[in-house]
Amino acid sequence: MAIGAATAACIALLILTFSAWVFVLILGRNRMFKGTAVERAHAFLYDRLPTAVEAWVERVGAVRWAVRRAEAVWMALFGRRNPLFQILAVVLYWAGIAVFVFQAAPMIPNRYVGRWQWAPILLTLATNIASYVLACATSPGIVDPSNEDAACRVFPYDNLLYYADRRCRTCHTRKPARSKHCSVCGRCVQMMDHHCIWLNTCVGLHNVRWFLLFLASFSAVCIYGSYLFATVVLEMRLVLGLDRLLVWNDEQQRMEPLSFKSSLLYLLDDSPLLAIVLVLLLVLTPAVVLFCGYQVRISMLGYTNNEESKWLNVAEAIGDQVVYETAAPEGPVYEVIEKDEQPADSRPRRCVGSLAEVKNMYDHGAVGNLALLFFPPKTQPLSPLANDRRKAHQS
Ligand SMILES: [Zn+2]
Ligand SMILES: [Zn+2]
Repeated sequence: MAIGAATAACIALLILTFSAWVFVLILGRNRMFKGTAVERAHAFLYDRLPTAVEAWVERVGAVRWAVRRAEAVWMALFGRRNPLFQILAVVLYWAGIAVFVFQAAPMIPNRYVGRWQWAPILLTLATNIASYVLACATSPGIVDPSNEDAACRVFPYDNLLYYADRRCRTCHTRKPARSKHCSVCGRCVQMMDHHCIWLNTCVGLHNVRWFLLFLASFSAVCIYGSYLFATVVLEMRLVLGLDRLLVWNDEQQRMEPLSFKSSLLYLLDDSPLLAIVLVLLLVLTPAVVLFCGYQVRISMLGYTNNEESKWLNVAEAIGDQVVYETAAPEGPVYEVIEKDEQPADSRPRRCVGSLAEVKNMYDHGAVGNLALLFFPPKTQPLSPLANDRRKAHQS
């Protein structure tokens, strides 16, 4: 009994620690947590702690050698495209499905889950699997010489996060506004959000809709799955008659009913695969739901993960009083004029006082932002054949 309580406490602690870590990792540099303990925790974990460890490593030769080896392994795993995590995700997912099919499905319907629930169960799984395949298989929107002009016309340059007439130092193509070069994929991606190791590709303009659908349906799979597995354990308790079972209590020297908690611990002990999937689902659910909520929120606010840190740089530049605004009929025009620079012309300019005064040019309201993600403009690179035909036509 004591071991059971300790195990439950450990699982709860694990879930809390993991969720807190994901929360700090994802939201630590978010503007809404500026100046709070979340920002300080992020700064400690991702700035001060690594710097202190680095300084220590530099002092100890053997550790330095080990760190170099670890860095080489890290680069092999995360530095270039590599299907390892994609395979791991697929294997774990289907292992979970197999446990569900062989251990939980025979107990559905049960006292808590009606037969009709097979429809939402299958629909949720099908949506989740289809959106994962589509997110992996759809090109995120590569910028190459065949489509760089079309890609550059999708978003205007705001002169704050993105500047016109820049070229990628690696691919040498023009840099469309909102694009970023992915060092893992080795290509420039339109409206780059982030590189996802679980998809083994970038999330960008053309596959972000499938990524959002995947996150939303995976959140549903985690929540619904936790519920279904929990009902199966409760049902097993009743089917096996553990609610009526009497056990000998040594201290009291009498028979007494098996407690609810002991019966659940017995069942989880008796069906380890079911218990592992249930615990994994409980650990995953807060992290997945939190990440999904964050991703939907920034999508509705009109910025990407990549732009989150760029906006922080703008906030710093505003703090240094080098961001200026000029009124124009089509909306405010922003410029960064360093302290030792002169403005290009004599138009009246206003020094921007805070980030709240800046209009995000890429924000068209929640509905408009989501509409853009779900119906992106066609700017995919031409196929090599079409590209050859285009060149032949031009010459
Ligand atoms: Zn590039
Ligand atoms: Zn990438």
